[in-house]
Amino acid sequence: MMAPGWPLRRFCGCFWPLAPASIGWAAIILIAFAGAVQAADYRGPLFDAHLHYNEEAFGQPQAANSGPHPLADVLARMQRNGVKAIIANSRPNDGTKALAASPQTRAAGVTVVPFIRLYRNRDDYTNWFRDETIYDMVVAEHARGTAGGPFRGIGEFHLYDSANANGPVAKKLMVYAEEKNLAILAHVDDAAIDLLMAHPPSKGQRTRLIWAHTGIGGVPAARVDELFARYPLLMGELSYRPGLTCDGGKLCPEWRALLLKYPNRFVIGSDTWVNQRWMYYDDLMQGYRTWLGDLPPDVARKIGWENAAGLFGVKAP
Ligand SMILES: [Zn+2]
Repeated sequence: MMAPGWPLRRFCGCFWPLAPASIGWAAIILIAFAGAVQAADYRGPLFDAHLHYNEEAFGQPQAANSGPHPLADVLARMQRNGVKAIIANSRPNDGTKALAASPQTRAAGVTVVPFIRLYRNRDDYTNWFRDETIYDMVVAEHARGTAGGPFRGIGEFHLYDSANANGPVAKKLMVYAEEKNLAILAHVDDAAIDLLMAHPPSKGQRTRLIWAHTGIGGVPAARVDELFARYPLLMGELSYRPGLTCDGGKLCPEWRALLLKYPNRFVIGSDTWVNQRWMYYDDLMQGYRTWLGDLPPDVARKIGWENAAGLFGVKAP
């Protein structure tokens, strides 16, 4: 509901005659605003480090490429946005395998880093951490790999209750990942980061965990800082991160400071978990380019490309 008098205040704001001193301030504000507009967007390559290619987009396994976003469509979206590499995972794993193996992907100049999804169906979201058949599936998928190369990680997985990080299969998978040098993509809260990191032999010192959304519940930047200091290979992926951007899609000061403190530890991602995210893929990538342009060029390139590329040895395009 609109507050009474709102249109009048707006009118007065637009047309109030300016005193000479105000004109001076107005000029300063205008110059500052023009400077902000002119801050160039980041134009380098992007590494989409959180991409799903689920059956709703790709089509059912029995009728692959029959969905609303067949391979040609998603690759065109990546191509026109300068996305040169992706961490791909999908429910079921067929979408990832298709992306990794297709000559179309190579022709589009996109490098695929395939991850093993833990979910065969939606029921697995809330049960995987205690379901031994999920562990068996991960081991079998890992042994098989994709026609485009081996799997490089596990996830994305979710823990809606952080205590489930201590589920028997969650424990086994954290140990397995570290033994096999697989990265982890985990959508969890900050408490679950500590719990998960306690499982592998290195106790999180050599665990390559990408924290999807870097705390989707809005955990304070200071707590993110604490976890980054504790676990040297913990990385933060920034889709859906509350408090990241402020006016005009620019970085909020607190997060700008955190990104500058840890320039080697953040990555970007689309999180195409529903088809709507594919429809807005251009806007998502443009949003990243806008705030990356706010950072020193070397830091922008690290977060946009190099940090994820370095994790998996992907060569510069
Ligand atoms: Zn996701």
